[in-house]
Amino acid sequence: MHAYQALNELIRGNRRYVTERYAYGDTGAVRRQELTRGHFPFAAIMSCSDSRVPPEIIFDQGLGDIFVVRTAGQVVDSIALGSLEYAVKYLGVRLVVVLGHQDCGAVEAAIAGYPQPGQIQAVVDAIQPAVRAAKRQCGNLLTNSLVNNVYLGIDRLTSSQLLQQKLATGELQIIGAMYCMKSGRVFFL
Ligand SMILES: [Zn+2]
Repeated sequence: MHAYQALNELIRGNRRYVTERYAYGDTGAVRRQELTRGHFPFAAIMSCSDSRVPPEIIFDQGLGDIFVVRTAGQVVDSIALGSLEYAVKYLGVRLVVVLGHQDCGAVEAAIAGYPQPGQIQAVVDAIQPAVRAAKRQCGNLLTNSLVNNVYLGIDRLTSSQLLQQKLATGELQIIGAMYCMKSGRVFFL
């Protein structure tokens, strides 16, 4: 599926979710059987692990439809990047969405700047460049940090040679998006 078709499908799915007119993407036994032969998801989503932002639900998709990678603060580390490269190279994904969301605890922690125990600090450290950039911008620090963090994820993806090649040939699109907690709407940036 072309990137623009994939984007339209995500927009339509999110509209169904917002209006509670779910198509309930196919999660049945027949589809499950069909997918034992392989899967070709039409889009990949890099999203936060936050329990309130499950991509399959907020885009109203079923089994085999979207390839999802989730980390706190949708931090694109090496494993996340490798996972997305895999989706593009071997599963034929032509649209990757980096999805941020309002009230992201990981971004809030990065702004608070307190030392965090264990590897939580690694999550916060990865988001710090987004916060540092936001401190130089006018407007709301949290909002700007959330948006910058989405672009930080996109920067990380476009640093991949494999993805660069696909972008150059027009076989791949990477876009950012923001999920609104109250309305359930996804705004594409
Ligand atoms: Zn979050």
